[in-house]
Amino acid sequence: MLKHPLLCKAHGYWGGAFRPIDSPESFCVINPSTLDVLAKLPNLTGEHATEAIMSAREVLRTPPRFEHRVGWLTAIADVHLEQRESLASIIAQENGKPLREALQEVEYAAGFYRDAATRVAELEAKIVPGDPRGLRWQIHHRPAGVAGLITPWNFPLGMLAKKLAGALAAGCPSVVKPAEKTPLSAIALFTLLDRLGLPPGLCNLVFGDAAAIGKVMCTDPSVRVISFTGSTRVGQILAQQSAPHIKRLGLELGGNAPFVVFADADLDVAVEELMANKFRCAGQTCVCTNRVFVEKSLASTLVARISQRVAALRTGRQAGDACDVGPMIDGQAFDKVRALVADAIDRGARAVAGGLPDDQERQYYPPTVLYPVNNDMACCRQELFGPVIAVTEFESEEAVCAAANDTEYGLAAYVFSGDATRASRVASRLQFGHVGINTATGPTPEAPFGGMKHSGLGREGGLEGIMEYVELQTLPTRYDPGHSDSKRTS
Ligand code: ADP
Repeated sequence: MLKHPLLCKAHGYWGGAFRPIDSPESFCVINPSTLDVLAKLPNLTGEHATEAIMSAREVLRTPPRFEHRVGWLTAIADVHLEQRESLASIIAQENGKPLREALQEVEYAAGFYRDAATRVAELEAKIVPGDPRGLRWQIHHRPAGVAGLITPWNFPLGMLAKKLAGALAAGCPSVVKPAEKTPLSAIALFTLLDRLGLPPGLCNLVFGDAAAIGKVMCTDPSVRVISFTGSTRVGQILAQQSAPHIKRLGLELGGNAPFVVFADADLDVAVEELMANKFRCAGQTCVCTNRVFVEKSLASTLVARISQRVAALRTGRQAGDACDVGPMIDGQAFDKVRALVADAIDRGARAVAGGLPDDQERQYYPPTVLYPVNNDMACCRQELFGPVIAVTEFESEEAVCAAANDTEYGLAAYVFSGDATRASRVASRLQFGHVGINTATGPTPEAPFGGMKHSGLGREGGLEGIMEYVELQTLPTRYDPGHSDSKRTS
């Protein structure tokens, strides 16, 4: 087991305590950079998820008061920053991302708790103006119920924060299920939550048999919200399983982000933004650019500039801790990227940087630029999820909007142009939930983020992210006993 003061109790957590379980089944957490086994953890089951849900349910007997929610959220944000180095080192070890990126992730996570704390006051009951029907209409924001939060491995604390902060602000107790590839960051966080003395059952943690735990979350009637970030395939399973139980689903699924560069764009800005966007977490994030569309007259210049930059990137294989690009999460992820690059090369693309590594290497994918690529190639149809830039040319605004939208996904997109009117016109035509204009930034805690089409349902961040965990309750009230409700019609 990775020796770390925040990982002394590597167990599930519910009812306000870590729960040592003697399970015959276990799974290993691997460091993708060294392939060392970091931990062997018990495989928790659906029964453990049920226990966690039962303890969460207890919290709802007396929904948490607003001032308590603000206090918890603020304390959790603070603890992230106080333990920044420790948490980042655990993220970097289990996910493989460079420490610099892991530190940014911890700050990003803290931002969600901090922002949610400032918004709790917006959940005060509202009164409908004008007393319709001679009644006072109050709108209350009630906690929706127990929240099941299922997170992926690419931002072990960032994705957890997006969900847990929204749930806590709304007053919902949660059962968290982190990805089995990266559960240690969540365990470390729960060690810190345990020290904060939160009410037992407010935050609970299970990991192990993902399918069984997911099924319990979908079918247990106390769980009213399921928030999931991960593959479209698993999102569909959760939607199907929960359909008979009419649950709220927040789904942040796959992406296929277009990065559109018009000839009048500021080339320096476009190149910088592409480099910053594409190689984070070795290209394994859902907002990473998947398809670069560049106007024909600028194509060879852009390709030359990015190829030069990409060829200079250092992977962890060459540069250890000082690397620019870490390893793929596992050999399977590596093989998938290799197959997409091989397919593009077979079908006429050139690898102007990087290319196909030899068969022995299954960790660090060489940063690669493919050009010219067309939108029908597998690397443009599927999510690349690796450090590969695929460049396609376009000739008109009409054509590039059609090509960018020609995907079942609709999460993030980016448009670069010196013409502000055109950039906003193109943004309005793109069927994506997040469209950067002359920026390729990802989400921020203060604003809602989420996808259209097969990229999902619901939003995370901002007040909208909290509302995913809120049930509106409307109270028409006869406030004056002497008052006759003459307008009542139903
Ligand atoms: P990836 O392919 O990127 O690992 P997944 O969608 O498989 O993405 O995983 C995202 C999260 O979903 C992880 O926490 C994983 O354990 C969980 N998961 C996988 N399968 C299921 C399932 N059948 N039900 C619920 N959660 C699942």
